[in-house]
Amino acid sequence: MNDCVFCRIAAGEAPATKVYEDDTLCAFLDIRPITRGHTLVIPKQHAAELEDLDAELGARIFRTGHRLALAIRRSSLATDGANLVLNDGTAAFQTVPHVHLHVVPRKHGDILRFAKGFLLRRSHDPVGTAAAIRAGMAALDNEGEDPEERVDR
Ligand code: AMP
Ligand code: ZN
Repeated sequence: MNDCVFCRIAAGEAPATKVYEDDTLCAFLDIRPITRGHTLVIPKQHAAELEDLDAELGARIFRTGHRLALAIRRSSLATDGANLVLNDGTAAFQTVPHVHLHVVPRKHGDILRFAKGFLLRRSHDPVGTAAAIRAGMAALDNEGEDPEERVDR
């Protein structure tokens, strides 16, 4: 059995609150979020670091992170922005050796809340948070129905 926790999440063998999934990647809530809605995007195929990651898959991961950032802004989480961060290698403080892109929602003036979240890393209402993000993705997709406002996936 694969001892990589993110491979097991991708395969549905370990618990996670998933917000998005397709053939090649999935996105789920970080178990120790810095801010509400902190999400990780991972390739389904194991790649420990960027050295091991197919470049096209890397582009897809970023595209999904981009989409999530837009969706979270449109969600009831009512955020104003996001930090998209990828820690590559232990030198960069990567702790889980399976490539993952962090999408950390931000609000104007949230610096104290952000600092507290960074220290405490507590999860609140993951089910409701995931539902809000999925609704934001649906809202984003509906905008795409209008060719004037299309957001490429
Ligand atoms: P990094 O330091 O970039 O490797 O970040 C790893 C992230 O994975 C941290 O934010 C952890 O909270 C998160 N994490 C570790 N295990 C799990 C898990 N089983 N489910 C969800 N998130 C996880
Ligand atoms: Zn893995």
